[in-house]
Amino acid sequence: MIEQSILEITSALSRANRIIIVPHKGPDGDAIGSSLGLYHFLKDKGHDVKVVAPNDYPQFLKWLPGQEEILIFEEDRENCLALINNAEIIFTLDFNMLDRTGEMEEPLRAAEATFIMIDHHPEPSDYADHTYSDAGMSSTCQMVYKFIQKLRAVKYITPQIATCLYTGIMTDTGSFRYRSTSSETHLVIADLIEKGADNTTIHQNVFDTFTENRLQLLGVALQNLRVNKELHTAYITLSQEELDRYNFQKGDTEGFVNYGLAIEGVKFAVIFIEHKSEGLIKMSLRSKGKFSVNQFARSHFNGGGHLNAAGGKSDLSLQETVAKFNSLIPDYKEELSV
Ligand code: 5GP
Ligand code: MN
Repeated sequence: MIEQSILEITSALSRANRIIIVPHKGPDGDAIGSSLGLYHFLKDKGHDVKVVAPNDYPQFLKWLPGQEEILIFEEDRENCLALINNAEIIFTLDFNMLDRTGEMEEPLRAAEATFIMIDHHPEPSDYADHTYSDAGMSSTCQMVYKFIQKLRAVKYITPQIATCLYTGIMTDTGSFRYRSTSSETHLVIADLIEKGADNTTIHQNVFDTFTENRLQLLGVALQNLRVNKELHTAYITLSQEELDRYNFQKGDTEGFVNYGLAIEGVKFAVIFIEHKSEGLIKMSLRSKGKFSVNQFARSHFNGGGHLNAAGGKSDLSLQETVAKFNSLIPDYKEELSV
């Protein structure tokens, strides 16, 4: 982000009172952590600020400071529409295409506010007045920290802000192990601990939250795992019937896809999850090394994401989607072999 933009943002922030912060649909730890981190920062500065999420977020985030103040567009349309229409500044966090906000896309496009994007996905679109985009960053939370730093306001980071930002950096880096984790990530993390983030409690709150049902659903997922050794690929399926049997709750399948990647030699892992009510199969794709799941998801499954982590969807049946996947991967044999 260029210095001119920072000057303009500083001046916009000094003029604007009504601000909303929007994470992407199906928000994860980074989307909610960055939104709440920025929320506390702006609120402490005296702004009238609200987080408006397109839909609900997983149970394992429902302890974050300020989460009870988040408004859910799907559940409170009228109120949220009024906030969007009246906002002077709209921050969009952890995504870079407005269609990632689902049904909020149209009202956002019509909004007159100044848009500020803070995001770490590749290939940003150009809807924002100020685009702070850096695909080299571990997480949007790390970028919010840097954004606060650019505003020369690191000294105003409270334990609440530190907790929210720590959480998103932790979840988006797989607890600081993905390649996106840099020495700078650790410096930011060190400062967040210094400023009051309680790392042990945060880790427990996010990860040690399995219900019996969720752990048994993981058992089913692992039984359904299939490995294609020749193509260094593994995939898992979960049908609606299997989800129902274990009383599936939002967030229950978080992290399941990583078990495929934990198999020696596997470089590409996918989970296919049936969502009968939406008539969709949702996919999470993960890779190791140079194989781009972002490109694969964009090309074949109406999705996208990062080099090593992406999402996608299909309106075929579960079996047909898996068959499509199996027919596509031989074309990538060479890329998957390096
Ligand atoms: P997850 O598999 O955890 O849902 O998503 C992995 C990554 O891909 C996240 O960074 C997420 O923002 C991105 N992603 C997930 N679904 C989609 C999608 O439908 N389109 C795009 N462009 N990115 C997605
Ligand atoms: Mn992210």
